[in-house]
Formats: sequence, structure tokens, C-alpha cells
Amino acid sequence: MKIERIELYHVAMPLIYPWRTAYGEDAAIHSLLCRLSSGSLDGWGEGTPFAAPCYSPEWAGGIFAVVRDWLAPAILGKDIESGAQLGEHLCIYKGNPFAKAALDTAWWSLSCKLTGKPLHAALGATRDEAPVGADFGVMDSIDDLLESVGAAVQEGFPRVKLKFRPGWDVPMLEAVRRQHPDFTFHIDCNSGYRLCDLKLFREIDKFQLAMIEQPLQYDDLIDHARLQSQIQTPVCLDESITTRRHAQQAAALKSCRYVNIKPGRVGGLTNAVAIHDACRDAGIPCWVGSMLESSTGAAFCSALGMLDNFTYPGDIFPSSRFYHEDLSDPPLELHKSSGGIPSIRGCEQLPEPVPARLEKLTVEHAVLR
Ligand code: MG
Repeated sequence: MKIERIELYHVAMPLIYPWRTAYGEDAAIHSLLCRLSSGSLDGWGEGTPFAAPCYSPEWAGGIFAVVRDWLAPAILGKDIESGAQLGEHLCIYKGNPFAKAALDTAWWSLSCKLTGKPLHAALGATRDEAPVGADFGVMDSIDDLLESVGAAVQEGFPRVKLKFRPGWDVPMLEAVRRQHPDFTFHIDCNSGYRLCDLKLFREIDKFQLAMIEQPLQYDDLIDHARLQSQIQTPVCLDESITTRRHAQQAAALKSCRYVNIKPGRVGGLTNAVAIHDACRDAGIPCWVGSMLESSTGAAFCSALGMLDNFTYPGDIFPSSRFYHEDLSDPPLELHKSSGGIPSIRGCEQLPEPVPARLEKLTVEHAVLR
């Protein structure tokens, strides 16, 4: 299909409450929405690196500029028949995975409109639902956290992920473990530690966590391998895995025993599937993550998470968890599987931004034709 028009929206979506992690605090989620048009059809994509380059080197204002000035002109007017072909047009530009993801996911949604195929099926999924877990950031108090964790356990979530950073660490884990001795928990450090913190991670082995997510630097594989060889708890890499090559290298180095894949962080769905396949071939189970996208972006994460090697419950949130009103329609909702587990379901039609909400939340806008 020929890409005839590309429209870009940098939006700021206000959160119900701030999202606190090891790298900072966000009161609004900054995201890039991208509309690709071919003939009478439109496909929407999304890349959500947040407002500042703190989760990764990218940021929403930056990806708006790089897509407008470099990536979008490279595909405008081109006939593009696959995600891999789109990637070939963009590969001269180094890095910038969140920027590339906005275009790649838009290409997939345009392609699904053309073929009438649901996205999860187009990606190769053999199931049309997948379980999700609960995830809690740093809160005002441990009592607040215990209340939220208790509610998640009651609601049937199969596992809970806890953000972990200096000052919100071992005493927090002790309190949670005391209240839920057998439940599945894991922690996400968002690159907040260094190999010299080995003693801390050895101490954490006693909590029998499912995994420790991205304990060390955001771009590291070697120190993670050193850490993994000296602790029992599996290491999961998130920020460090942005390409299939990184996944293969992490497997060769034994840097991790799990990989979290987010379409935005890895340049879109095409690369996400490639990383999933590389992990499957290396015997490394995956789970899907998300970046607090609108329901447009969350639908890409949901569809991806239905592939076979996503065996640990994903981090996909209902829109109502973070937003009074989702930018896109329909909002993402969880449903209970037959086993009573909160799950996501594959959708026939992907959610798209509501024009009036898009206008209200837009910070920067560009059109290329
Ligand atoms: Mg993470």
C-alpha cells in the first residue's frame, strides 16, 4: 500500500495520579500519535517515550521532531507491503525505537484495515486472550501499597509487580511478603542499581520473587550476566533489549532468564515479534509490557501479548486505572477469563483517537503529504 499522507500529534494525557518510578515522576503521559493514510483508509499508531529522556534516551518532543523531519519523509509516497519493508526504509536512521514504533504500529493498523484481519491474528497469535498482572508504582506509604496489593489479589490478578528504588525497597518487600507469603510478586528497578549493589540483590533472594526486572543500567548486558550468575532470583531484562541482536546476545551471555517486550521500546510490532521469536528459540520466556499508552497503543501491546512465548502475565492496564477519559475509543477494559483471571481480549477493530479529545490534548501537530 502506498503511504500518501502522514499526520503526527504530540499529546500530553493527564494522569489521575502521578506515576512514580526509580527514574522520576510523571503527571501526564506524553505520547506521539501517528496517522498513516493510503487511499480512503487510515491507520493509527503510537509511540510513548514519556515527556523527558529518563526511561530511555528518547522523549516525546524529540520523537515528534525525528519522525516529522526524518522518518516520515523516508516512507511518504512509498509502497510498503510489510513491517520488515518499512524497517528497511528507516534503518539508515540509528536507534530512535519509540519514533519508529509510532510509524510501524500505524502501518500494522492500516494493514489490518486493508485485510480485515484482527491484529493478534495478523501477528501470528494462536489465542485471542491473555492473562494480565497488576503493577504498582511507588506510593505515599506502605499502608497504601498493602491496600492496593490486597485488592489486586482479591480481584484474581495472577501476579503483582512492584516498583523498587532506594527508599522503597527491602522494608516494602518485607511488608508485602508478610501479608502475602505465597503470592507471585516481582520487582522492577528501572535501572536504579549497579553491580556494587550485589549484596542487596543476594538479600532479596529470600523473598522468592518471580524475577527482578532491569536491576542495572538501561543499556547493559554484561553486568546483568555477572549479577545473574550470583543470585538465585531470575533477572528479567526490559530497557536493555531493544533489538533482536540484543536478545540473542543476552541469551548467549546468560544475562537474564526473562525478557519484557514493549512494542514502543523495540521500534514497533515487527521488531517485537522478531525479539519474541529469538527469545523463544533461546528458551527464554517473555511477557508483554506497556508504557501507559492511550487505548490505541495499549491495543498493540495486548495483541502482541497473545503470541505463544508470552507465558508470564503482561502489564496491560485498563484505561480507567490511569485516565479519567482515554484519548481513544473504545477504552481498554479487562475481562475475567473462564478461570476468573483478569485478561485482555483480542479486538476486531483497533481503538482510534476521538477527534475532540485529540484536539484538546495536542501539544504539537504536523501533516506531511
Ligand atoms: Mg520495566
